[in-house]
Amino acid sequence: MSTLESVPSTQPWLPVALPGQAELSVPLPSAADAASPAAPTANATQGPWRDSLRCPKCHQPVRPASDSFICQNQTCGQQYPISRGGPVLINEDKSVFTLAEFLDNQQNVFSETRSWRSRISGLLPDLDLNPVGDAYMQKFKQQLLSRFDHARILVVGGSIEGAGLACLANDPRIELVETDVTLSDKTQVICDAHDLPFADAAFHGVIVQAVLEHVLDPWRVVSELHRVLCPDGIVLADTPFIAQVHCRQYDFHRFTRLGHRRLFRHFQELDSGISGGPAVATLWTLRYFALSFCRRNWSRAAASLTLRCLLFPLKYLDLWLIHHAPSNDAAMAFYFIGAKSESPLSDQDLLSQYQGGF
Ligand SMILES: [Zn+2]
Repeated sequence: MSTLESVPSTQPWLPVALPGQAELSVPLPSAADAASPAAPTANATQGPWRDSLRCPKCHQPVRPASDSFICQNQTCGQQYPISRGGPVLINEDKSVFTLAEFLDNQQNVFSETRSWRSRISGLLPDLDLNPVGDAYMQKFKQQLLSRFDHARILVVGGSIEGAGLACLANDPRIELVETDVTLSDKTQVICDAHDLPFADAAFHGVIVQAVLEHVLDPWRVVSELHRVLCPDGIVLADTPFIAQVHCRQYDFHRFTRLGHRRLFRHFQELDSGISGGPAVATLWTLRYFALSFCRRNWSRAAASLTLRCLLFPLKYLDLWLIHHAPSNDAAMAFYFIGAKSESPLSDQDLLSQYQGGF
């Protein structure tokens, strides 16, 4: 039994366990998995991605009905609703999300309603800067297209467009499948990343940007990303290290550069680096320091918007700082691009990869 299977099924998980439950053995694909009809290969004619949909409870195929998707496993037979044209494939026994909340169009992680505050906020400068988003997405794309004629890519957390993603959207060689636990016009499948409703080896690439801090068990989620990737498939992850709480109650984890590398130890590294620098990390800290004095919404909004307008030019220091090794100890976020591997990185080798200033 893997550590994964030993997680109590009665424990609700956002998409699951907490730090300390980090050890889990990532199941490597069997030869049968790689040769299954759902497994994409470099020369395969791509069928519609819908063929790879699976029941998140029993991993058997689901078939579309008039107003739902139904698991074809007779002993399971779970029915999944359709919301805005896409299936809601969530295992309620193991998720904090329910099927009903998507049928009712309830907002959970993100709100689609734009308040007066968010409208004003959108017109003002912000304290965010990812200087390498376009470049790392180009590298990810090059790595994929050097391996596969056609790339089917799973985007986890795809309801909001991530940094650099635009370069993939209009390429006929690329097929994007955007998933999330929040409703938006971009979401094709509503699912919980702890139990991805897709067949083994269904994708050539996976993108997970600014998501792993928001899941209860990032180690389990990465094992799922590994499972749904075909042999030699590529992952692109971008995850915060120094950043204050955002998305309210849906925020659980941060990773150092080595912590992030260990999270993806079942992948061979192709590229990695700083995607949010020390300047942005410091500006976020100053903003949240000021917010700590403010109890009322209006005072928080005033303080936040004032600091954004005053401090935003300093974020451009990161254009220079992200290239300095000591910045690894103070960065806001790290990215990682890796190829699915059957040989995990050892912890001894992990330690030798420290690149900070000490
Ligand atoms: Zn089922």
